[in-house]
Amino acid sequence: MASYSPGQRIEARCTRCRDITGHIIVVVLDGEVAKVECCACGSVHKYYPAENKARPVKERPLRVQSGQERGEAVLNRSSARTRVELAAASGAGTGTVPRPAKLSRAEQQSVKLREELEHQWQEAMARNPGMPKPYAMDGAFALGSLVEHPSFGVGMVLSVTPPDRIDVLFREGIKALRCRC
Ligand SMILES: [Zn+2]
Repeated sequence: MASYSPGQRIEARCTRCRDITGHIIVVVLDGEVAKVECCACGSVHKYYPAENKARPVKERPLRVQSGQERGEAVLNRSSARTRVELAAASGAGTGTVPRPAKLSRAEQQSVKLREELEHQWQEAMARNPGMPKPYAMDGAFALGSLVEHPSFGVGMVLSVTPPDRIDVLFREGIKALRCRC
């Protein structure tokens, strides 16, 4: 076994360079190198043998949460970019990644409005047990009466705007129709 003495040059792992660099021995304790000075960055630190590079000191123990595969934990620790690349490489394209079913504010309002209209329509149908009048462009329709449209179904006249327009509440929403008022 070689004996060490201060001032001697030695290969060691530098904590600042995070690499194996040339070091000058600063302190020797009981024949063992205790402190070294890095020739690359000049930092003086504890001696870490060069051959120990496989287990860098800064490496934190990998935490694997319950229900999570170790591979997944490794992926999570990697950068997002690496994760995407790995996903692409393993054939799991972005198309298979489930997107969160979150509606935008506008979409939410639109859905709410639709539900409200449908509710109004159902109430209108319940209030009006009479037979709907088939819709015709030259027909006349009274406020609150029922209209049957070939594509929209049965609706209730919400407003009459002379000379030629009625707004009708159908199940799918309010439609403006031409008529003879
Ligand atoms: Zn260094």
